[in-house]
Amino acid sequence: MADPITFNRPYVTDTERGYLEEVLASRRFAGNGPFTQRVHRLLEERFGIPHVLLTHSCTGALELAALRLELEPGDEVIVPSYTFAATASAFLRTGASIVFCDVDPTTMNLDPADVATRITERTRAVVPVHYGGIGARMDEILALADEHDLHVVEDAAQGLGASIGDQGLGSIAGMGAVSFHETKNLHAGLGGALFVNDTDLFDRAEDMWERGTNRTKMFKGLVDKYTWVEQGSSFYPSELQAAFLLAQLEHLDENLAERHVLYDRYDSHLRPLEAQGRFALPRIPPDRHLNWHSYFLIAESIDDADLIREGLGARGIQAFIGYVPLHSSPMGRKLGFTPDDVPITEELAPRVLRLPFHNDLTIDDVDRVAAAIVDLTGGGR
Ligand SMILES: *Cc1c(COP(=O)(O)O)cnc(C)c1O
Repeated sequence: MADPITFNRPYVTDTERGYLEEVLASRRFAGNGPFTQRVHRLLEERFGIPHVLLTHSCTGALELAALRLELEPGDEVIVPSYTFAATASAFLRTGASIVFCDVDPTTMNLDPADVATRITERTRAVVPVHYGGIGARMDEILALADEHDLHVVEDAAQGLGASIGDQGLGSIAGMGAVSFHETKNLHAGLGGALFVNDTDLFDRAEDMWERGTNRTKMFKGLVDKYTWVEQGSSFYPSELQAAFLLAQLEHLDENLAERHVLYDRYDSHLRPLEAQGRFALPRIPPDRHLNWHSYFLIAESIDDADLIREGLGARGIQAFIGYVPLHSSPMGRKLGFTPDDVPITEELAPRVLRLPFHNDLTIDDVDRVAAAIVDLTGGGR
C-alpha cells in the first residue's frame, strides 16, 4: 500500500534551533524576556495591532479576555456551538452563562442573524470563531455589538495570517485570540496570543497577564517596585517557546505560500465535483483572504461523511469529522442544552469532513486524496 497520509504534521523551519541556543546562552528562560518582546513587536507591526500579549495557549488568551471583561454570574456570552471547547469554557469559568448560536451553512461560521435573536438584557459579549481561517461576518457582528453595547472577542485560533479586506483576523474586534498549538499553521508546541485592539482594555489586561501584578510597569519605569494589583494568572510561556515561535513567525509568508498551492490543488479536483451533489465546499466571500488553515467538505449526509472517511482510512489517508458541537457534548448536556437549540449545527456538524492539510503534504499526496474521494463518491460516472 502507498505511504500513509497523515491529517497534520507540525510545521518546522531551519531556524528554531539557533534561537533556542540563544536562549540557552542568555540564561533568561522564565518568560516576558527579549524573545517575548520580539514576538510582540513582530505581531504588532505585521498586523497593525496596538498591543499583543503572548500566552501559553489560545485557551489562555480567551481566559485572559474573559477575565478582563469582568464577567459575572448572570452575564451571558454568545458563542457558536460549532467550535472547540475552549471558546465556551474560557467564558464559563467566570460564572457567566453560555448561550449557543447557530452557524451559516456556507462557512460553518456563526450566523449574525441567529446571534441577533439570542441577544437579551444580560448579554455582555459575542465570540465569533473564524473556522478554518475563513473570516466570520464581522461587519454584521460589530453592528449588533454597537447597537446592544456588547464586547466582541474574536476566536482567531485558526486565523493567523488570514484577513477580511486588509484587516487581519484577530485584529478586528476589541480583542482577538490566536493559537500557536502544533495543529495550527505556526506554533510553539503550545502557545497563543491575545491581540488587544481596544487600547482602553490594555493596561489592566497586561497586569492580569503578569500574574495580577504591575511588574511590567516597573520595567517601564512607571513604578519603583511591583505588587499585586488585579486578579490574574501566569498567562505567558517561557522564553524557550517565544524563541521557537519567533523563528516560525519569521516564516509566515513561506508557510502561507506553500499552503496556498496545496489548497488550490484540492480545489482544482474537488470544486468541479460539487455539482454532483455528494458534498459541498465552503463558499468563501471575495474579500476573505485565507491563510489556508484547513481543507474541509460538507458531505450530503452523515452516511456519506462516514463512507468517505472510512474509505480514505482504508487507503491510508487520515481524515476527521469536524467538532462534536458543544451543545450536544457531555458538558453541553450537563448545562441543559438540547439538540433543538441549534438545529443547523446539529444537522451539519457530523457531515463536516476535514482532509489532510499541512506543509509537508506534496502535490502527489493531494492528488491521491482527491482521487480517492472521486472514487468513493462515484465521481465521473
Ligand atoms: C485550536 C483552537 C483553540 C484552542 O487553542 P489552544 O492554543 O490549543 O488553546 C480554540 N478555538 C479554536 C477555534 C481552535 O481551533
